[in-house]
Amino acid sequence: MLSYQEALAWLLERARPLNTHQNLSLLQAAGRVLAQPVTATIDVPPHDNSAMDGYAVRCAESGAPLPVSQRIPAGSAPQALAAGSVARIFTGAPIPDGADAVIMQEQAVVGEDGQVAFSAAPQAGQNIRRRGEDIAAGQTILAPGRRLTPADLGLAASIGLARLPVRPQLRVAVFFTGDELVEPGQPLAAGQIYNSNRFWLIPALHKLGCEVIDLGHVGDALEPTRQLLRDAAAVADVIVTCGGVSVGEEDHVKAAVEAEGELTLWKLAIKPGKPLAFGKVGDADFIGLPGNPVSGYVTLQTLLRPFLLRRMGLMDGAPFAPRFPAAFVWDRPDSKRSEFLRVRKVAGASGWELQLYPQQGSGVLMSCAWADGLAWVQPAQRIQPGDELPYLELA
Ligand code: AMP
Ligand code: MG
Repeated sequence: MLSYQEALAWLLERARPLNTHQNLSLLQAAGRVLAQPVTATIDVPPHDNSAMDGYAVRCAESGAPLPVSQRIPAGSAPQALAAGSVARIFTGAPIPDGADAVIMQEQAVVGEDGQVAFSAAPQAGQNIRRRGEDIAAGQTILAPGRRLTPADLGLAASIGLARLPVRPQLRVAVFFTGDELVEPGQPLAAGQIYNSNRFWLIPALHKLGCEVIDLGHVGDALEPTRQLLRDAAAVADVIVTCGGVSVGEEDHVKAAVEAEGELTLWKLAIKPGKPLAFGKVGDADFIGLPGNPVSGYVTLQTLLRPFLLRRMGLMDGAPFAPRFPAAFVWDRPDSKRSEFLRVRKVAGASGWELQLYPQQGSGVLMSCAWADGLAWVQPAQRIQPGDELPYLELA
């Protein structure tokens, strides 16, 4: 049996990041993975400007009432400040040459004669936002391999970019195996169950930013499974299936992948989980998740997700990086396998802590709906309240 760390390292080594890119408009690029560094060609802000509505002054002159020599709204290009005068100025407007401070309008009194007196002496530089104080020309503002956030797009816009180079969406074809499966909305005949896996897998893939090609479900038969694999390989970068990867007589995925490509099948030392298949069909990677809904879901979170993120070109950190104290006792560990407990991160008396869903059975999909994360327990590890556990936030 392979440990979780071994399986993860093995998968990540084989996750070739997409290496093409497309230039998308900023709004289309939201949530996509940046493919190249973004370097500023201008200073932001491009000119010293006022942080307040008020008066641009020369500090040395501002002790006595002064006439207003010009009015500078945002968007205008001012004249140099005439000696012995102030300029009326508004937020965002360029500072006129010669001025060295802005006095806010609340500290100004305009006399009958139109001259302005100030109730406070200014400090040089006050209320002036300096050219380049946000971004300096030449500075790299965004590194490749990050998922573009709303703030990133605002930053790109602030240096005048209309488009960004991003990785194409990863195309993931999915199908589900099992003679027992019925789609929700249909009546259940004796021996049948609903295809629940389809309804966590596809939305989870969408949430990761993948383009999903849903090929539906196939019965437990070799030829139709092979056909779907060929269909999937023709349109996808990655093929993900659920079920049929054990080695029972009714499990045809393994044989179908072997016939159409190549396959490595593992028993993983994780709970829930166990069988995981990895291979290639044509140019597409193949990952076969276990059919058991909780096992499949946990395998998606712990192994498939890091693989897909790396494949998408994201330079994400390791899963399970943060640790939080347990707020529960766990005294019946598995002696050989890591366990991924379904937990919730809640605010305790002295910070975040992890609560445990009471039923951790591998048939209890309620635990996944309740949880917001997984806590990683080592083989044979007993847990007391306060013990720190690695935590993975569910995708
Ligand atoms: P398998 O991996 O095909 O042996 O399936 C393991 C268990 O998961 C069996 O009890 C299946 O009925 C169940 N199962 C397989 N696929 C699905 C699915 N798409 N939705 C719900 N349960 C499934
Ligand atoms: Mg099956």
